[in-house]
Amino acid sequence: MQAYLKQLNEAQLAPVLQKEGAMIVIAGAGSGKTRVLTYRIAYLMSQGVDPFNILALTFTNKAAREMKKRISQIVGSSEAKNLWMGTFHSIFAKILRFEADKLGYPSNFTIYDTQDSQSVIRSIIKEMQLDKDIYKYKQVYSRISSYKNSLITVKAYFNNPELQEADAMAKMPRLGDIYQAYVDKCFKAGAMDFDDLLLKTNELLNRFPDVLAKYQNRFRYILVDEYQDTNHSQYLIVKALSDRFQNICVVGDDAQSIYAFRGANINNILNFQKDYDDVRVYRLEQNYRSTKNIVNAANSIIEKNKQRLEKVVWTANDEGNKILVNRTMTDGDEGRFVASSIFENAMSHQLKYDSFAVLYRTNAQSRAIEDALRKKDIPYRIYGGLSFYQRKEIKDVLAYLRLILNPKDEEALKRVINYPARGIGQTTIDRLIVAANHYDRSMFEVMKHIDKIDLKINKGTQGKLQNFVTMIESFQVLNQGYDAFQIAEHVTKKTGLVQELKKDGTPEGIARIENIEELLNGMRDFVEEQKELADTTGSLAEFLEDVALATDLDNEKGDDNRVALMTVHLAKGLEFPYVYIVGMEEDLFPSAMSMNTRSELEEERRLFYVALTRAEKQAYLTYTQSRYRWGKLIDAEPSRFIEEIEDQFLDYLTPITENRYKPLIDTDIFGEVDKSKLRMRKPSSGVPPKGPTESQLRKLRRLKPVSSDTDKNFDLEKANLSEGTMVEHVRFGQGKILKIEGVGADTKAEILFENGGLKKLLLRFAKLKVL
Ligand code: ATP
Ligand code: MG
Repeated sequence: MQAYLKQLNEAQLAPVLQKEGAMIVIAGAGSGKTRVLTYRIAYLMSQGVDPFNILALTFTNKAAREMKKRISQIVGSSEAKNLWMGTFHSIFAKILRFEADKLGYPSNFTIYDTQDSQSVIRSIIKEMQLDKDIYKYKQVYSRISSYKNSLITVKAYFNNPELQEADAMAKMPRLGDIYQAYVDKCFKAGAMDFDDLLLKTNELLNRFPDVLAKYQNRFRYILVDEYQDTNHSQYLIVKALSDRFQNICVVGDDAQSIYAFRGANINNILNFQKDYDDVRVYRLEQNYRSTKNIVNAANSIIEKNKQRLEKVVWTANDEGNKILVNRTMTDGDEGRFVASSIFENAMSHQLKYDSFAVLYRTNAQSRAIEDALRKKDIPYRIYGGLSFYQRKEIKDVLAYLRLILNPKDEEALKRVINYPARGIGQTTIDRLIVAANHYDRSMFEVMKHIDKIDLKINKGTQGKLQNFVTMIESFQVLNQGYDAFQIAEHVTKKTGLVQELKKDGTPEGIARIENIEELLNGMRDFVEEQKELADTTGSLAEFLEDVALATDLDNEKGDDNRVALMTVHLAKGLEFPYVYIVGMEEDLFPSAMSMNTRSELEEERRLFYVALTRAEKQAYLTYTQSRYRWGKLIDAEPSRFIEEIEDQFLDYLTPITENRYKPLIDTDIFGEVDKSKLRMRKPSSGVPPKGPTESQLRKLRRLKPVSSDTDKNFDLEKANLSEGTMVEHVRFGQGKILKIEGVGADTKAEILFENGGLKKLLLRFAKLKVL
């Protein structure tokens, strides 16, 4: 037996050694599913399977790169480079380029990102003069996207009265027409959106049996990670490609299916056994990632789900610490707690910052965490949100580059035709759009022949349009002989983009120039990397493809020593020694939008299971009593998921009181009972100490309120009150002043009370005692 196979346990070894046939590995988090895929590929190669015949589909391109690296180490050669490995989108985009002509697309088709797609839809809604408050473009986009992922084409849509009725019921009877217009526009622009990459692949494999046969022969061995999150479209592709040889190995965990809202179908994993003639089912039970406490706590959570496959997960790892739960008063305090705790842990355990991850349910939560980390000079990196490639200045450069390859790309053209300003106004652009529709040509073609078409555009403007065309065409010539970096460098100079930002001179303008420089640096690295590979040259086309399909995790530089901030969705498959799951509150996690049905709630619970099982050594759950959401301060309640974890696995950093989830005071401020210290203590200072004991609390509560002024000339200064002051109210108990408004007798304060939640009180009546 090869030495590397000794790095697997018996249960893992079995699916690795089964060379042929259909198999599914169903197992809980951290049990080595991804490791099985990696080693299986290495083993196949050692058995003489050509890497060109192996297709492995991963959740991110980064995962694919890491897997390739590991395989290279195992097999001791660079042959792993020849594996077909990546996300569904990146692999099938590549195949679609080879076969594009069969579908009537140019092989240099553009890939529209979500922003581009939504912008097309917005302009269709405008052109069709529909009410944009009813036809919300994002909603329209997501409906169209879900049709595409269920392989419902425009034609199928119009053949299905039920779907049309459903859209009519949703007050969008014209949805089918928008869908049609959208598909037409994308086609005319030589563009595919993300969903097309799967939809068109299906179309290709269905309509052209010879093409199907070709890829069936090529991909003799197929492997899929995170199979529980494949959607219908992806499922059909895998099914079609593996149909001939049936050498397919999928791994997944039904308990980690978290993309149902995007069309992932958990039945794909449940029905796998019916899809192939002879399916072997493997189970792994031993978790290698986490401590006993974390594994058992996660088990106790997922048991609450009714819809699930029974699974055993255990670990031989240490008992470990209990999961630490911390409550704070505000989301700002929560951020400060996380930052202090990370700092403390990093110092006391000599850890690098990349040992830490902060996971949240929604991107908006990152702000408070970021602020606190910045204040403590802790380096971090945010994944998701607005990615680098979606920044305005970067999209501007990319738009020029896209036009070079595909001048029909209307979204790109509209973006830069008059940026930097070159005197081409909106009226002119509108006329071009109308003409393009009328002649059924692209805008660029219309511009090219502007002197032959009467569009009532004056000679001066015509000249400007022609100059633009000439400029793009000169770039196209350049593209014949130079690599991506050289072209981009030329483009940023010649278009005047950088000069425009220099003129701007503001700090934002400078930051933008720096971003463009960063883009160019990245392109240079890309070109160098590509040139090392045998069959690539670092061309512009290769670069744009890479960018279009970069997932949020892909931009990470390897040796980065930073705390990772990301949504739980993005964290799937990853692991970190220390994990902070923040915002553990009702309506946030579980999300308010996902509590309408049991199955939605169960998906939220699976999401929490994913979050918790990312942690290797220590997990923290934090929640706050109040949080700004949708511009308002709202009372928050601790998440039911905290309660669902068996108590023996938890430790509370905050005092437990009669009501476990409404503890009395904010430890962040209220660490010690010495009142003089209390007043001086800033919320951000240091690590929150343990809270006061019950007896200390009782003592505090016995302190009589100082009689406060009730006269009309209420004096804020004299009363010693200001924002952030801790006070006590006879009825509502202790609280913190969040805001003070008004003057004199009208002075009011917004106070967050431990017992009463958020209250606005007129101070001259409030009889507050300063603590
Ligand atoms: P997830 O469900 O989160 O995707 P997974 O089942 O894919 O998890 P892996 O990521 O493959 O699990 O493995 C979890 C961790 O355990 C990794 O760090 C991996 O290297 C380690 N591991 C897996 N199997 C073994 C083993 N037999 N011996 C030592 N370490 C192992
Ligand atoms: Mg995995």
